Amino acid sequence: MFDKLKKAFKQTVNNIKTRVGEKIQKEIKESDIEDVLEELFMELVEADVAYEVAEAIVESVKETLIGRKVARGTDIEELVYDAIRGKLLELLDKPAPDIIKEALERKPGERPLVLVFLGVNGVGKTTTIAKIANLYRKNGVTPVIAAADTFRAGAQEQLKEHARRLDVPIISGRYGADPASVAHDAISYAVARGYRAVLIDTAGRMHVDYDLMGELRKIVRVSKPDYKILVVDSLTGNDAVEQARRFNEEVGVDLVVLTKTDADVKGGTAVSIAGVIGKPILFIGTGQGYDDIERFDAKKFVEELLR
Ligand code: GDP
Repeated sequence: MFDKLKKAFKQTVNNIKTRVGEKIQKEIKESDIEDVLEELFMELVEADVAYEVAEAIVESVKETLIGRKVARGTDIEELVYDAIRGKLLELLDKPAPDIIKEALERKPGERPLVLVFLGVNGVGKTTTIAKIANLYRKNGVTPVIAAADTFRAGAQEQLKEHARRLDVPIISGRYGADPASVAHDAISYAVARGYRAVLIDTAGRMHVDYDLMGELRKIVRVSKPDYKILVVDSLTGNDAVEQARRFNEEVGVDLVVLTKTDADVKGGTAVSIAGVIGKPILFIGTGQGYDDIERFDAKKFVEELLR
């Protein structure tokens, strides 16, 4: 996982160490490390780190090093690692809610915890909803699933199959029904029967002649979710970043789930999304099974990258 990004950081640290190691008792000048940092920038971009985020990382390493006097015994490696670590944690380490605990705190018959899942087709949205439903079940909460993508018959069938296997109720609408009304019905159903969480699937087709964002805004207006959760595919790099920007501007995003990290050899998408929209990553997908989901731990992620 994330080999490309790991390699970029490691190489930079080694290069800077070689350069600066020769400058004992002298100040580090920009010209000493300029080309190394230029290389870091290119490597970051190649590892799917968004342009502006790569710039910010390079800038923070520069600030840490330029003007510093290197004494004998200064651990340059540690200095560079600290600079990178600090910046990555600043981008990634944001407090995220505990959606299990919040659902457990709802009293049956009150309004349930409502989560709306956003994202374009193919990113792993349906699978993520099933994984989260499974996570709830394991923690003693039965969620209601709302299949509010009423256009794609396949999506409804897929969700129904997951719901059957996980033994959770599902509310779906007839083909072409108003998605917002399906979401509304699912919440009413949950209130009436004492369920404490509702997971709303939404459409993700990107057709030019169809107002996806308008439809999503309507679902949000009607269902008043506690959290709008954007699902993105870590393998898609800059596309994922552009999706995050657009969904955040047009519908609003509270939390992000990053799927397929098990197959991601680059690693930059997490850093980019966090840097570009500034929202916490709640979970990462780590495989195709129901249990292949983990809470995102920024400290663990960064340590893994810099090991
Ligand atoms: P949707 O169109 O966004 O609902 O996407 P699906 O949930 O149908 O997922 C698309 C494909 O991605 C399926 O084959 C899933 O098994 C796969 N997938 C989803 N999440 C992950 C993940 O975390 N890791 C891997 N390796 N595959 C995943």
